[in-house]
Amino acid sequence: MKNTHFHRFAAAFAMLVALAFGCEPASSQQQTAQSAQTAAVAPKPDKTGKVRLSEAEWKQRLSPEAFQVLRQKGTEYAGTGALLKNKKKGTYVCGGCGLPLFSSAHKFDSGTGWPSFYDVVSKQNVGEHDDRSHGMERTEVVCNRCDGHLGHVFNDGPNPTGLRYCINSLSLRFVEDGSKE
Ligand SMILES: [Zn+2]
Repeated sequence: MKNTHFHRFAAAFAMLVALAFGCEPASSQQQTAQSAQTAAVAPKPDKTGKVRLSEAEWKQRLSPEAFQVLRQKGTEYAGTGALLKNKKKGTYVCGGCGLPLFSSAHKFDSGTGWPSFYDVVSKQNVGEHDDRSHGMERTEVVCNRCDGHLGHVFNDGPNPTGLRYCINSLSLRFVEDGSKE
């Protein structure tokens, strides 16, 4: 009994923390978050440059946790992301399609528990949508090639941009500088 109560309390607490920092919590089944698992071969874009896969195809390519975040706009629990404390030099690419999105040069510790960046690799690669879900007005950021959900962008980031891209580790894959990808 006590254990059940504790777990309920812990889940409620995690939800509060997530709301306090402006990212909505994922469903309770997602306890630990890891980096997105992408198949070795990136999906091929169509003639328009977009990657369009069926839900079943995405499910095949992604871990269940990454699918929930990238394709169903979930959010990993704060402090659980595999890339949160990554300080290596390299590029953060889309966990769904491999498009370069963020650089280690723009990564900073926001204290929120999610990987945070103050800029993008290219404005063309990262799309923005108004998000009025969960009773908040936020700006969702997505991969412009596969429309995968990445996280949100806020106006309380550091100089020089003043932006804070609050991104799920599960939406990203890290490619270290000098690796053969
Ligand atoms: Zn993508």
